[in-house]
Amino acid sequence: MFGKILIANRGEIALRVQRACRELGIRTVVVHSEADTDAKYVKLADESVCIGPAPARDSYLNIPAIISAAEVTDAEAIHPGYGFLSENADFAERCERSGFVFIGPRPESIRLMGDKITAKQAMVEAGVPTVPGSEGPLPEEPRDIVKIARSIGYPVIVKAAGGGGGRGMRSVHTEAALLAAVALTRQEAQSAFGNPAVYLEKYLENPRHIEIQVLADQNKNAVWLGDRDCSMQRRHQKVLEEAPAPGIPRRLIERVGERCAEACRKIDYRGAGTFEFLHEGGEFYFIEMNTRVQVEHPVTEMVTGVDIVQQQIRIAAGQKLVLKQRDVIPRGHAIECRINAEDPFKFTPSPGRITAWHTPGGPGVRVDSHAYAGYFVPPHYDSMIGKVICFGENRSQAIARMRIALSEMVVEGIQTNIPLHRELMLDEKFIQGGTSIHYLENRLAAIRAPRS
Ligand code: ADP
Repeated sequence: MFGKILIANRGEIALRVQRACRELGIRTVVVHSEADTDAKYVKLADESVCIGPAPARDSYLNIPAIISAAEVTDAEAIHPGYGFLSENADFAERCERSGFVFIGPRPESIRLMGDKITAKQAMVEAGVPTVPGSEGPLPEEPRDIVKIARSIGYPVIVKAAGGGGGRGMRSVHTEAALLAAVALTRQEAQSAFGNPAVYLEKYLENPRHIEIQVLADQNKNAVWLGDRDCSMQRRHQKVLEEAPAPGIPRRLIERVGERCAEACRKIDYRGAGTFEFLHEGGEFYFIEMNTRVQVEHPVTEMVTGVDIVQQQIRIAAGQKLVLKQRDVIPRGHAIECRINAEDPFKFTPSPGRITAWHTPGGPGVRVDSHAYAGYFVPPHYDSMIGKVICFGENRSQAIARMRIALSEMVVEGIQTNIPLHRELMLDEKFIQGGTSIHYLENRLAAIRAPRS
């Protein structure tokens, strides 16, 4: 096992990784920007290194600064968390070339799965069902693009091969709008992801977003840890997640889960990963794979009892996956609400000083957050300041506990989306379960801001 790990991230995930390390008896180095110098999790680490000014490109995305921090502190491995450099194959390569273990998949796997086009092709070869669409990137010739869209059938969605974070996507309902949408998405893809390649997919009208968590070791042992439902989204970004996905026959999930584990063996995948699917009309369609730990990993941890971050570390250290598929027996139900520093109904970011902070507790309640009273939420990064996760023996108990948890939670000084989550926990359709990816956006239009 490693003696010391450098955590190349910030916020709640930096703290989450730190906790996993401590439990394994591993010392930690946290790197931070000038905006995060005073954060408590930075002080909690065994060592910390300032790697640059507040803007992420000068600090959390600054590869040479992170590698030097690992060198001066004598770390053995680097955990990238999620976001920032976690899915950057060049970073993974730089770590390994500089003599550090990258806690994640091989650079080739990140590259293969980081391009959504090659990822889909690999999944087709591995026998995983994908959303029908263009084979490979769209050609330049407008006539050919029109032909491809016709063969898929409208509506279609134009997607950037290098896209992520819900950006680089545009649905198209008529042929008249096609070429302009392709041109615009190409432009955006070039400027945001440095890769102008786009492709077409059938636009599914009312799907759910269901994903499968996997773990694989260096010797092709792979297991899947059940499923999650992440259909509650705004602008293609997840707001609330749960495990398992309500109302889907277990034998269907098992079939797709097995395929995912098999795909890991086939592509020689290593570490934790997530296969994302759209689910409609009883079918699963692969959309992309995330080659890192995800924000929503705690719901899977709550129902399986497996510590996914510790597993990542063990696998990276070369340990064999001792977990067998028959040992993975999900139990009960878990829900996660992402707590963001933002206006709950207008969604404008709300950084600033937290003046009061009280987190909920009690049976089945977990709060993953780096925030506290007096903490200053910097304006430079993602607005998520924590996650409330509730477990229950069944879904209705998980919802009941989440209602209580959210009613206990107090955050003052900044705005948060807690009022939105409180409303969702009382929403009839959510309580029924199984809403589609469009439900929240439609519902938001109808929600009135509650009186304070
Ligand atoms: P990102 O990498 O940006 O997260 P994904 O490919 O995972 O992008 O898609 C994010 C979300 O966009 C999905 O959960 C879904 O809501 C929507 N989406 C993606 N592809 C389609 C599609 N073919 N039809 C309908 N919605 C889609």
